[in-house]
Amino acid sequence: MSTRLISAIAAVVSFATVIHHEANAGPATDVTREANAAVSRQLDFSDQQAFEDAHRGFIATLPDAEVTDDNGQRAWSNKPYAFLNEEQAPPSVNPSLWRQARLNAIHGLFRITDDIYQIRGIDLANMTIVEGKTGLIIIDPLLTPATARAALALYRQHRTDRPVVAVIYTHSHVDHFGGVKGVTSQAEVDAGAVHIYAPTGFMEHAVSENVIAGNAMTRRARYMYGTDLPIDPQGHIDTGLGKGLARGPLTLIQPTDLISESGVRRIDGVDIDFQLVPDSEAPAEMMMYFPAQRVLNTAELTSQQMHNIYTLRGAEVRDASQWSRYIDEALDRFGPISDVIIAQHHWPVWDSARAQEFLAGQRDLYKFIHDQTVRLMNQGYRPGEIAETLQLPASLAQRWYARGYYGTLRHNVRGVYQRYLGWYDGNPANLDSPAPVDAARKTIEYMGGIEAVLERARADYAAGNYRWVASVMSQAVFAEPDNRAARQLGADALEQLGYQAEAGPWRDVYLSGAQDLRAPRETPPSDPELRADLLRSLDTGMFFDLLGVRLNGPKAADKHIVINWIFTDTEERFRLNLQNSALTWLADRQDSSPDAALTLTRKTLDSILLGESSFLKALQNGDIRVEGDVKKVVELLGLMETFDPDFPLIEPKAGGQVPAR
Ligand SMILES: [Zn+2]
Repeated sequence: MSTRLISAIAAVVSFATVIHHEANAGPATDVTREANAAVSRQLDFSDQQAFEDAHRGFIATLPDAEVTDDNGQRAWSNKPYAFLNEEQAPPSVNPSLWRQARLNAIHGLFRITDDIYQIRGIDLANMTIVEGKTGLIIIDPLLTPATARAALALYRQHRTDRPVVAVIYTHSHVDHFGGVKGVTSQAEVDAGAVHIYAPTGFMEHAVSENVIAGNAMTRRARYMYGTDLPIDPQGHIDTGLGKGLARGPLTLIQPTDLISESGVRRIDGVDIDFQLVPDSEAPAEMMMYFPAQRVLNTAELTSQQMHNIYTLRGAEVRDASQWSRYIDEALDRFGPISDVIIAQHHWPVWDSARAQEFLAGQRDLYKFIHDQTVRLMNQGYRPGEIAETLQLPASLAQRWYARGYYGTLRHNVRGVYQRYLGWYDGNPANLDSPAPVDAARKTIEYMGGIEAVLERARADYAAGNYRWVASVMSQAVFAEPDNRAARQLGADALEQLGYQAEAGPWRDVYLSGAQDLRAPRETPPSDPELRADLLRSLDTGMFFDLLGVRLNGPKAADKHIVINWIFTDTEERFRLNLQNSALTWLADRQDSSPDAALTLTRKTLDSILLGESSFLKALQNGDIRVEGDVKKVVELLGLMETFDPDFPLIEPKAGGQVPAR
């Protein structure tokens, strides 16, 4: 993710869910057909190496990669993607993305060496299995227990039913650990029968990375992954990184062994040379080299595409320069002694010479993005100007593994700019620009009113100026959200942009936006069992951070409430202070004269977080003991907002005004 994919995302993302069918998705226009045909001429589609690599070592697979969970619900299936059997891309899909989508549709159990195997294409990520002296080492147990269980069963059916003795999480993104309870159990780990290895910092980041901004990221992730789109040639076809996300609850078992420094560890008789690569693709991540097998596993530092420096669901920008250096170090140390490179997404690169060329290309890709953006930034160019002009050198642009299927050069350069200089481009006119709705109304008025704008925009649409039409129609919709003609024309323009996009996420955000412009959407059902393991692992301090961002500031004006918290089972103490509409907290502190003091267990807090109980219920049944003024506690909780999981992305929220109360 990847995604950095997340607990919160998985709550609503499921590749099989279609909320409503976009009944009026239109055909590709002549302009789009020509743009996609041009891509066919620019790239070397006769190069079949990737298909050979993706099929090499194939042992067996599940029919249509179909996986059902314990309740008979479909967790994964490639059936809806049967249309990808066509080699030729339809006019509504960029041929380069079509090729990637076909590669990502290859699924099954694959042999890497005599004792290393991979299961690919039955979830977003790969599961790698290493045969140790006494049992199996599972690297990355996928996103859900159902797909992880099915992957392990497929392996066992064709190899050996030796027990799982170790699990390795390569990094803190949920598509790499959420299925852990499909390959082992908390009881086995507690009994010491299974060890779980992870890079240092794993738990903090796995749990926290997206908690604070979770609701906003989740909403945006639905656009990025095309969750609400139909799966068909005019809808979702691929994420670039893989087909999509498996559906179902996700799980987490805490690591028993943290890898806190690079170097060789022996796990079940297998030597593994770990290379820690923090703050790159993920905040906690590690690659690993297998000296006896001459295999390098790059986790998600390399992939068969350009990855995200900035991810469209929204996240902190990643350090492209450091990312590049890590790949360079791996190339330097392990490149000459590797026969094959595997990763936790996509297919391997075989043979030492090609493996080294691939590592060098991936290294240079991220360094180029970083350095050339910073060069132009220092020359005074703005983000949009850099995005518009910067091009990969032909030596990279012609490499399939440098194509922007997941990240794109255009949005990554904006990310690099933002990492260093933030949102403000230095132009004072953009410092405090008018509010979006006000700006839209004035602009449309200056342009001669909505009818005049629509007429000109229709001409531009006919000429194929889709980016401009999408931009102007967005202004029109912000000025007049109920204007059907503006919504329709805006949707048509976004749709053609989606059909032309090479990146899976670009296609999905454009088509999702078109769908929302055409019809209001229903809120998808959320999955309640989903985040249990993650919430239980949430740092107690972060619970107070979450309370803080849910506080309705205007409602809290003039209130001053101080509460001491005492957790008896974890022996934690906190002082919580509401003042000036801001909620602050300190650990290991207690106020000498609080409004109230709460005594409870962390277990009680967990059941409240999971929705199994509530504060009021826990107060009533004595799970929370209160000294002092209980009314103050109730008052504070009454100031907390719930978030709208379905907030609009293509039109103003509630008229564009933030309500005072
Ligand atoms: Zn991933």
